Amino acid sequence: MIAKLIRRVLKAPKFGKKPRTIPLKAHGISRDSISPCALKVTDTLQKAGYDAYVVGGAVRDLLLGREPKDFDVATNAEPEEVRALFRRSRIIGRRFQIVHVMCGAETIEVTTFRGSAADENGDRHEDETGRIVRDNVFGTLEEDAARRDFTVNALYYDPSSQEVRDYHDGVNDVREKRLRMIGDPEKRFREDPVRMLRAVRFAAKLDFHIDPATRAPVAKLGDLLQHVPGARLFDEMLKLLFSGHALRGVHQLRAEGLHHGLLPLLDTILEQPGGERFVSLALKNTDQRIAQDKPVSPAFLFATLLWHEVLAAWRSLEAQGMKPFPALSQAMNDVLAAQEKKLAIPRRFDATMKEIWSMQPRFQMRSGQRPFRLIEHPRFRAAYDFFMLRCESGELEMDLLRWWDDFIDADNAQREAMLVRDEAPAKKRKRRRKPNAKATEGEAPPAPEEP
Ligand code: ATP
Ligand code: MG
Repeated sequence: MIAKLIRRVLKAPKFGKKPRTIPLKAHGISRDSISPCALKVTDTLQKAGYDAYVVGGAVRDLLLGREPKDFDVATNAEPEEVRALFRRSRIIGRRFQIVHVMCGAETIEVTTFRGSAADENGDRHEDETGRIVRDNVFGTLEEDAARRDFTVNALYYDPSSQEVRDYHDGVNDVREKRLRMIGDPEKRFREDPVRMLRAVRFAAKLDFHIDPATRAPVAKLGDLLQHVPGARLFDEMLKLLFSGHALRGVHQLRAEGLHHGLLPLLDTILEQPGGERFVSLALKNTDQRIAQDKPVSPAFLFATLLWHEVLAAWRSLEAQGMKPFPALSQAMNDVLAAQEKKLAIPRRFDATMKEIWSMQPRFQMRSGQRPFRLIEHPRFRAAYDFFMLRCESGELEMDLLRWWDDFIDADNAQREAMLVRDEAPAKKRKRRRKPNAKATEGEAPPAPEEP
């Protein structure tokens, strides 16, 4: 503890670079735009004698006049010291230890200033490619700024003085909509290859251009993504897909050469047999839902991404003589088993995807009690949204979608009148032979016509 303190004091004068301190009237971010929880965190830390700033995406987004997704705080208090100040808090992480402070439903991520890469006494480890696998070296504010990824992410806002500290000309880059890596881009990408994906995500989300010097090494460093644990890649891909700009992001990843064989989930997206139109529509639909503040679920999106693979397998099994429902069921299992091998989509999403898929044939059955039962299904909304995409992409008739829209809006008597009595006669004959065909909840009966 004392040794650390001495190190910190000795280190301070080593870096002569003065931050630009930008006053309220030049940047316009007032204390009121910071969430009450983040203010509670910075105020409490400052009262206890520590430095504390709002940092990262929140400051950048406020400068851009956008609503921040969440608030991160940086401080010179160490994780244990932070935890001692907040009753509802816990230390998480190994690679980077951080503290989560909770107030109500909000969580603030509090990080201790990271030390500079030049410091060799601390707890930092790199692997043979230069990737940092553990990093709990603490340092000064200035060092912390140098360890962040992009200049626009290294702005520190002090809610007490309402000033922004800017060591790397980030405010200017925000104004010029430029994403620029701090330090030597190649070295920084080697330290953490996920920064390549972050660059693409931020460029897509913020509509920024990537500075040429930052962009240049990406083409040759793509392979380094293979050393990143799959779960982290998957999380980063999810952030991209739910950034509100998935369509643009996915195309930019392709343009940067960052997909083939490097990002299993992205290969799945971009290499759908015959399904490109459907996938683009699904991504566009996700972007729109986020813009309208509607909920989005990963399982729903994955179900759309894999649909054309399922559809192709389903059709081919039917062509081999299988009955529609068992064919669909086997198609779903085959496609998911192939995904599991590629490590593209974790298994925890399987059940929901299957449920959405297996309800699809039921939208083509508009007779008897079936539409009534379908509409009562707990997953009806998700299955219906999915069905809508199928119609809009040209896979099914728009008339069918209009029928369901009317059916949803109608009262009971009107619904009865809407039923399609002569639908799929072949199907009806089949049912007469097996009067109690297992039409249990959640299980789809055979499709009445070609899917
Ligand atoms: P978002 O709006 O997506 O939350 P963000 O900039 O806040 O964007 P976070 O992933 O929440 O991104 O990270 C918070 C901050 O931590 C970043 O702004 C950046 O300063 C720093 N940071 C995060 N990941 C890295 C990384 N891989 N390398 C360097 N700095 C990082
Ligand atoms: Mg953030």
